Amino acid sequence: MAESGGRRLTVIGGGVMGLMTAYYAAPFAETVTVLERTRVGDPETASFCLTRSVRNDYLDPEYSRLAYESRRLWLELQALSSEPLLIDCGCLNLFKDSITPDLASSYAVRSFAILAQLQLRRAALSAAELRQRFPQFTADAGRLDVDAGFADVPAVTRFLQAALRARRVHVSENATVRGITRSGGSWHVATESGEVVSDALVITAGLGTNDVLGLLPGCSARFPLRPDRPVQSKYFIPPAGTRSRYTARTLPVFAYLDVGIYGHPIHEGKTPGVKIGFYNPPDAALVQSPIASVEDFVAECMPGLRGAETVDVADASGVDVCAYDLVGDDDFILGPVPGMDGVFTGVGWRGTGYKFAPWVGRVLAQLALQGGTVYDIHRFAPGRFAGGPAADLVTAGGAAP
Ligand SMILES: Cc1cc2nc3c(=O)[nH]c(=O)nc-3n(C[C@H](O)[C@H](O)[C@H](O)COP(=O)(O)OP(=O)(O)OC[C@H]3O[C@@H](n4cnc5c(N)ncnc54)[C@H](O)[C@@H]3O)c2cc1C
Repeated sequence: MAESGGRRLTVIGGGVMGLMTAYYAAPFAETVTVLERTRVGDPETASFCLTRSVRNDYLDPEYSRLAYESRRLWLELQALSSEPLLIDCGCLNLFKDSITPDLASSYAVRSFAILAQLQLRRAALSAAELRQRFPQFTADAGRLDVDAGFADVPAVTRFLQAALRARRVHVSENATVRGITRSGGSWHVATESGEVVSDALVITAGLGTNDVLGLLPGCSARFPLRPDRPVQSKYFIPPAGTRSRYTARTLPVFAYLDVGIYGHPIHEGKTPGVKIGFYNPPDAALVQSPIASVEDFVAECMPGLRGAETVDVADASGVDVCAYDLVGDDDFILGPVPGMDGVFTGVGWRGTGYKFAPWVGRVLAQLALQGGTVYDIHRFAPGRFAGGPAADLVTAGGAAP
């Protein structure tokens, strides 16, 4: 049997980021243990729901490049999965004159320019083309991110759980971390069911990350994290006879981010209706518009769903009651924890992290076990908050979900 290098890794936090880290770490480690405070799949955590957007259409080319690189990794994982992980229905950004009169400054046009700059597959649709291709919408223009869609989150979770079992990763659920000590060059993590000793620690504890940092002896790093959540998230159940117009075969993921709207088509047999969310990000330049709810959006842009039966996403799936982890300066936090030998973290995904999960997992695994990563992650350095959490830097908002 091949040798695995002898390093032991403990991952604290069993959301998608922790599970992906364990997945990529296992081939390079002697042991990998994931400690999860609740259970994998707990509805209180950000990673568990039915669908998450997977898209490249950011306003910042670096995030677009990373999203596309993450997609490449998703496709590698999907090739190993017995069921699809990504549903490639595209992602359509909408624009309507009567809602946001300035086309040039719209999210649709600006993010499309980034897709063009990166040579990613895309389509610009006029009002007539939009009517013909996606008659579900009433709008004046559309910009399609072609290599996009959504993740089937339960399928991803099943895939990761099976893969981690096969890779002999120990996932310890209901494991509350009581204390962390350093001794003989190793990290000792105490839980009520015993102690886990390792050479490296990865902290992917979402909004619980600062509490874990507080357990590290001598660690003064804390991050300016802030919870936030969508104002509304509903399934619209189309009238009988029109359902086929709203499944992922015919309807893309869609968004009108200038007014805080995003939506997912029906995932046939898995979700009850078209999911539409309304998010009003703090400090974001939401354009003044007549859209103040998902119902307003439907009335303006998806008239076929007007009057449709609705159900709150939380009621239908038991999840999506969880929160985004916003960051003071609106950038991911990914890399070594300052001053802590062999400790790495990934947090602050600002409601947009799921699609990046394989990339994040790979980066954290490389940092913890290979002494560095092939990716340039300087921008995301946790050390930028070493002088104390700059909570008032908040400029959050504008990221695609
Ligand atoms: C409503 C909503 C919609 C979203 N939509 C999208 C989308 O469409 N597309 C997209 O790409 N992203 C989206 N996101 C973001 C994405 O879901 C998150 O960025 C991602 O799931 C974060 O994963 P995580 O593992 O960091 O966090 P979590 O899933 O929160 O995992 C952290 C884990 O750490 C555990 N933990 C905490 N403290 C401790 C401790 N002391 N000891 C042990 N364990 C601990 C928690 O129990 C939890 O399981 C959305 C997020 C939300 C909330």
